[in-house]
Amino acid sequence: MQCNSGAACISLDKAIEKGLDPKDRPTDLDLVWVPWLEKWSCIECFETFRQGEMTHEDFDDPVWREWVKNEFGI
Ligand SMILES: [Zn+2]
Repeated sequence: MQCNSGAACISLDKAIEKGLDPKDRPTDLDLVWVPWLEKWSCIECFETFRQGEMTHEDFDDPVWREWVKNEFGI
């Protein structure tokens, strides 16, 4: 299981800073289920991107939708 942020994942960034090969995605992350995304997110991304404060209604907002598209590719 991996964070939905993929290459933009903050935990991944931090792991790379510590010398992790980007190909070896960290797999021991604490993941949270994000209902409106219908995806798993690591705690770092969940808190940083404030995914817990967003809802499906935000997702309907064009600005948010654009952001989500850029951020998550969905
Ligand atoms: Zn992440």
